[in-house]
Amino acid sequence: MGINVTRSSMPPFSEYCNEIKDIWESHWLTNMGAKHKALEMALKNYLGCSHITLFVNGHLALENAIAAFNFPKGSEIITTPFTFASTTHAIIRNGLTPVFCDINPNDYTIDVSLVEKLISRKTVAILPVHVYGNVCDVENIKKIADSYSLKVIYDSAHAFGVKYKGISIANYGDASMFSFHATKVFHTIEGGAVCFSDDTLKPILDYSKDFGIKNEETYVFVGGNAKMNEFQAAMGLCNLRHLDAEIQKRKKIVFLYRKLLGSQSGIKVNEDKEKTESNYAYFPVCFFDYRYDRNTIKKMLMGRNIFSRKYFFPLTSDFECYKNYPTCGGSKTPVAKDISDHVLALPLYSDLTAEEVSLICEIIMG
Ligand SMILES: *Cc1c(COP(=O)(O)O)cnc(C)c1O
Repeated sequence: MGINVTRSSMPPFSEYCNEIKDIWESHWLTNMGAKHKALEMALKNYLGCSHITLFVNGHLALENAIAAFNFPKGSEIITTPFTFASTTHAIIRNGLTPVFCDINPNDYTIDVSLVEKLISRKTVAILPVHVYGNVCDVENIKKIADSYSLKVIYDSAHAFGVKYKGISIANYGDASMFSFHATKVFHTIEGGAVCFSDDTLKPILDYSKDFGIKNEETYVFVGGNAKMNEFQAAMGLCNLRHLDAEIQKRKKIVFLYRKLLGSQSGIKVNEDKEKTESNYAYFPVCFFDYRYDRNTIKKMLMGRNIFSRKYFFPLTSDFECYKNYPTCGGSKTPVAKDISDHVLALPLYSDLTAEEVSLICEIIMG
């Protein structure tokens, strides 16, 4: 048996069965039923945010969040290429132009000192990513956004459960998107949400995932379909009860990894940031001038049936599907390119054992 890079957390089988019993009684499977309402309420409480709208997945949450601001077509959004495809696709699928800003070499989030130079007359928003759950420089991002009247939309897909200065990351920016995909720290099998504070966005986001239906005979918005169903919501209600324990287990594993690899020269690991409660979502390691390069390490692990991931390689700005896209290609973000060429995400999930972590580190130090 091998070790995968991730493994979905599961509530006890009996707990899920118990949670979905009501669904058999009600025959109400989707369309904002009781489980959906309960999860929305539970997440609002957990995150302490003013508003939340659930979605069938994180990507559609982000696409709809961007659409909710109704930016003129062709407007520019400043973002980073060191992320999952979803971030950049969501911008382009909205008819907007991604303008790529480099990342900082410490925590791989957007380098705030470079943002202002990228602002043009067409810029409407900044879309930073709390990559690996690392908190962006939210305060300086807000300062820049305020002084140029830009919106801030966070891709918080990696950051559920993360707090900065005692408050959930959901409360920063004009909107913050979470992914509840099976591989994330908290999941609903597939799922996602947008958190925001502006009341006027609530009907827009609610309508945008349900065809703009106000009532049986009234369609007030050209919405699509991106509703979370009752089985997803039930999984979320179960997983939320175990989330704190899940994060504590991940924390132990991350601390063990750091202890074993952190002092090796040529290996760079992330540390916890001040005033931040981490969710220990990923364990990315950069191999700079190490005796083996990143690709070799990946192969060495694979030879022992251990799967790591070049997360993120390539940069989204180098994707083949954007090859004719004016702002993509070429390397305008040298730090992101450098990290992308050296980073490897090591296996991390709550039931990974200390022995398995030791084995992985022994192979790396081989
Ligand atoms: C997972 C992820 C998404 C998309 O979420 P899905 O729920 O898989 O649609 C978006 N951005 C980032 C950075 C992600 O890791």
